[in-house]
Amino acid sequence: MIDVMLLGTGAMVPLPGRWLSSALVRVGSALVLLDCGEGTQIAMRERHWGFRRLDAVCLSHLHADHVAGLPGLLHTVANAGKTSPLLVYGPEGTIEMLRAVRVLAQYLPFDVVVRELSGGDTVAGPDGLAISVAEGEHRIPVLAYRLDHPRGRRFDPERAEALEVPRDRWSVLQRGDAVVVEGREITPESVLGEERPGVALGFATDTRPCDTIRELVTGVDLLISEGTYARDDEVDRARARGHMTFREAATQARDARVGHLWLTHFSAAMEHPESWRANAAEVFPAVTIGYAGLSGTLAFDSGYRPFAGNAMCDGDGGRSAEVGG
Ligand SMILES: [Zn+2]
Ligand SMILES: [Zn+2]
Repeated sequence: MIDVMLLGTGAMVPLPGRWLSSALVRVGSALVLLDCGEGTQIAMRERHWGFRRLDAVCLSHLHADHVAGLPGLLHTVANAGKTSPLLVYGPEGTIEMLRAVRVLAQYLPFDVVVRELSGGDTVAGPDGLAISVAEGEHRIPVLAYRLDHPRGRRFDPERAEALEVPRDRWSVLQRGDAVVVEGREITPESVLGEERPGVALGFATDTRPCDTIRELVTGVDLLISEGTYARDDEVDRARARGHMTFREAATQARDARVGHLWLTHFSAAMEHPESWRANAAEVFPAVTIGYAGLSGTLAFDSGYRPFAGNAMCDGDGGRSAEVGG
């Protein structure tokens, strides 16, 4: 199970009432941040999911509206008492960028481990999470992310009891490790049922629609996608700048058969993203126009489910939590 929250929805510059586009993921007790533009730590503070358990930061690319919040965030995470390593993932150039950031954040009580990824890579995140990337099409190298949270196989307590496995060893078998009971080896196979599908989240921003991303996010329960331009007649601008219109983002979501779509990364010139929802919904009805605080759960049994009370959150441009199909 994964909880997800949009921290902001802006492109290029933070605006009063609209933080830059980033999202926070909660898996087990750990947090993973997707992008970190200027002011992200303030947006995080407003949402109360905490800082100390931040385990990884996944950066789409190195444009300032996606990374300039890092120095302040590192200090705030340090003040919150984190001591375990922080993983930072990003495209080519991330190591050099982090070196510059560390000039501003030199003394931290935790290690910052930076790893540059390229299309096709998968790395292990917290709580069994698998983090995979594909390369998108922007003006500089950009990565889209897929976060898969696997579900454990069903555990059969009757079989465990029949094999006389003490209860305090059950969790070992559930994890997939063998146990030895009075000289007998009990394998996980003997007490675990069939494989069960997990849940998956996609995050694609600052990119044109493209095959690599469509493949990466195929079948995810929730896709967070940029929709920098709302109007269909802005498609030439979207092409020239490596972005998408609402309709293009919705088309990609439909073609990738995702469960639900959140749009974000709205041009600063777009005052009321919500009022353009139809441009996306005509193609893909299960779309929500993002706003700060929009949140939901990807549950093993039921897939994407918006948090109750979403509509009470302040919108940034769109004030109602429109949840389609
Ligand atoms: Zn951007
Ligand atoms: Zn960009």
